[in-house]
Amino acid sequence: MNTDMSIDSNLKEIVEELKRYLEFQESMGLKTVTAYNKETENDTQLITEKEAPRTEPMATKNNQTEEDIIIIEEPANLFDGSKTMTLEEIREEIGDCTRCNLHEGRTNLVFGDGNPKAKLVFVGEGPGRDEDMQGKPFVGRSGKLLTKIIEAMGLRREDVYICNVVKCRPPDNRTPEPNEMSTCEQFLFKQIRFIKPEVIVCLGATAAKSILRTKASLGSLRGKFHMYSGTKLMVTYHPAALLRNPHFKKPAWEDMQVVMKELGLPLPKN
Ligand code: URA
Repeated sequence: MNTDMSIDSNLKEIVEELKRYLEFQESMGLKTVTAYNKETENDTQLITEKEAPRTEPMATKNNQTEEDIIIIEEPANLFDGSKTMTLEEIREEIGDCTRCNLHEGRTNLVFGDGNPKAKLVFVGEGPGRDEDMQGKPFVGRSGKLLTKIIEAMGLRREDVYICNVVKCRPPDNRTPEPNEMSTCEQFLFKQIRFIKPEVIVCLGATAAKSILRTKASLGSLRGKFHMYSGTKLMVTYHPAALLRNPHFKKPAWEDMQVVMKELGLPLPKN
């Protein structure tokens, strides 16, 4: 094998990887750079202008740095002494909700859908137009891509549970406001508590912010497991971001392979 050629192709791969990260950071309007260290595989760190990169990360058992991983408990005020509600009881509690302004534009409330005993739960941001019309999560273009991802993982849509941070469609599909999220996310936490999956996947930054209580960039959160109430939690790109920028498909698929490994699903041969 020609060594020059293999150095060339390695270099090309590194440059492409870097380009994807930079494009993502730019698309998120961030002025910081995320460093990717091949030696530590999934470790990514946010480097701000003030902060020098750590050369020797404190490795934990699973090769992640302690400061990279978020470990968070479920909100104590929600569950203090109260029993776990079933999905039916949670839906009943939501009722014909008028707790925030999002109810004004809603056709249907989108509670969530799938296997109540799922080992894997996907959490999106909030319903779009198709979801609002049908009352089901992820049934539009993004949903079709999510279904493909689920099937590529060797699962069927019915095997997993899919829900959102907010249950009503934000006008023009805008990002939910903090007050809308803080009003509605209690129901997501209750859904997760009942289902008790082995893995949660946050699709996009809104779901990650809601559950992990962080402002960290998606680029710095993805690719490794965080913990929510004892459950492993992966953050990856929202399918809508994958439709807008196909460069994100490769890292998103890498994230899903980490999830598959955790769930004991057979990995595709490269
Ligand atoms: N995007 C989301 O975040 N959720 C949906 O249900 C559909 C699109």
